Amino acid sequence: MNKSVLIVGAGIGGLATALRLAKKGYKVEIVEKNGQAGGRLNQIKKDGFTFDTGPSFFSMSFEFEEFARECGIELPFKYVALDPLYSVHFSDNPQTFFLHKDIQKLAEQFKDVEPDFEEKMRNYLAKSGALFHDTVDLVIKQNFDSVWAYLWTLMRVNPVHLPVLFRTFWQEVKRHFTSQEARQIVSLVAFFLGRTPFDTMAIYTLLSYTEFKHDGYYNVEGGMYRIVEGILSELKKEQVQITYNTEIVDYVAKGGRLECVVDNLGKRWSADVVLINGDAAVFRSRVFKRKKYAVEKLDQMTWTMGYLTFYIGVKCKLPQVNHHNYYVGSNFEEYANGILEHPDTLEKPYYYVNVLSKYNEECAPEGCESLLFVCPVPNLLHKPNWDDKEEIVDSILADFSQRIGKELTAEIVSKTIYTPLEWEKQFNLHRGSGLGLAHNMNQIGAFRPSNFDEKFKNVFYVGASTIPGAGLPMAIISSKLASERIESFFQ
Ligand SMILES: Cc1cc2nc3c(=O)[nH]c(=O)nc-3n(C[C@H](O)[C@H](O)[C@H](O)COP(=O)(O)OP(=O)(O)OC[C@H]3O[C@@H](n4cnc5c(N)ncnc54)[C@H](O)[C@@H]3O)c2cc1C
Repeated sequence: MNKSVLIVGAGIGGLATALRLAKKGYKVEIVEKNGQAGGRLNQIKKDGFTFDTGPSFFSMSFEFEEFARECGIELPFKYVALDPLYSVHFSDNPQTFFLHKDIQKLAEQFKDVEPDFEEKMRNYLAKSGALFHDTVDLVIKQNFDSVWAYLWTLMRVNPVHLPVLFRTFWQEVKRHFTSQEARQIVSLVAFFLGRTPFDTMAIYTLLSYTEFKHDGYYNVEGGMYRIVEGILSELKKEQVQITYNTEIVDYVAKGGRLECVVDNLGKRWSADVVLINGDAAVFRSRVFKRKKYAVEKLDQMTWTMGYLTFYIGVKCKLPQVNHHNYYVGSNFEEYANGILEHPDTLEKPYYYVNVLSKYNEECAPEGCESLLFVCPVPNLLHKPNWDDKEEIVDSILADFSQRIGKELTAEIVSKTIYTPLEWEKQFNLHRGSGLGLAHNMNQIGAFRPSNFDEKFKNVFYVGASTIPGAGLPMAIISSKLASERIESFFQ
């Protein structure tokens, strides 16, 4: 077979689609803007430390297993179930909450703050489980050819779920739990969609089921970048060529067909089909120069928050710090609600700390730890200036030092900071928005930028800002949906 596919971008979405197609006999080639594959799922190696840059765990492991099965390979990385899933620390409550999947064990943690937690949690999870099972195959894992086809499908979803369309995540959680601790902990997962529980639709309470009941969370042995390395080694076996440091900036088209894309040095790249893994809205804007996606139009869409991430190597061990930790601020509701309105406040709803070296000793020199901090912050639309990044990072490190009972400043031997400016520049993310387009009602399903191009019949899209949305398992589903589109194009 001589059907050729050029993939623009070597993020997880591009890599996974490349493998699916190469295994089916397509001639696949990839061009990537950066010097290293992985996109946001990346790795920094510095001062003897290894850091995961973005994702530090994943859910829905069965999607990765299905991907491997469909490619006819063994999954090329090893993953480990997290138990507890993570720990949560409040600034005004000395108790550490360990989030176990075992509901009885979980309920034990809440016995002093939330009466009848076990029963409430079981009811909540039954509801979110029903939402998950009633939508995952019917809506989330589907290609839609038109808005009408999408709306028709939505009408087939069990109407019992209708009320959650009109509530926020926080409102739904409030209906089930009374304590601030339970409400805040259960609603943390809404942040994983890149917004707050106060502006995320209640349909996403289905994520609570995926985290606590259905499948849980997983780590990858050796660090998350092993996912990328594993897929790269499979692509090598299939002789898929990847050209790095090559950004696509222009195109040549004839009628309804894309003839070629053009890189930053003027070189032309052509194939029967071009699959875009760069952000589906940004690429239509910057490269295809579509009016509907002009910068002013992009700014009117709803984007996820930015992330302030920093990568800290310390020359001491931190046995008192768990593997995955959330440090929640003292007034969660106020800070989370105001995160976009008060961009300069040093108060954050929470920050997350991951100690990669805890179970992967090779990721830090002996006697040292490798720490990843992730803090949700306004994207560049709301806070374009990050000259105060050192001040913000220092304030978080001071808070962290106080909470763990150890002054860290003198222990730091490696420090790297990514503000939304770095995220935007490295990965072409609109206004540095960490997860791409938000998941509002008018930006999901057939209302999200589609995975087929409006104008060019031989152009398709994969990744976070097309369907189904953000997160690693969604990128794997997106690769399946894009492959299906490409295969039917060639039929
Ligand atoms: C801080 C942070 C933490 C996260 N944590 C988690 C987590 O714990 N679990 C989880 O499941 N998800 C997490 N995510 C989300 C997850 O990282 C993303 O949803 C996923 O990696 C997106 O993959 P993608 O393939 O869609 O896009 P990307 O990773 O953005 O890949 C797109 C690629 O295309 C390249 N590109 C763009 N434009 C061009 C061009 N014009 N020419 C050539 N190349 C181009 C980019 O350089 C990039 O390599 C996190 C994200 C962030 C930012």
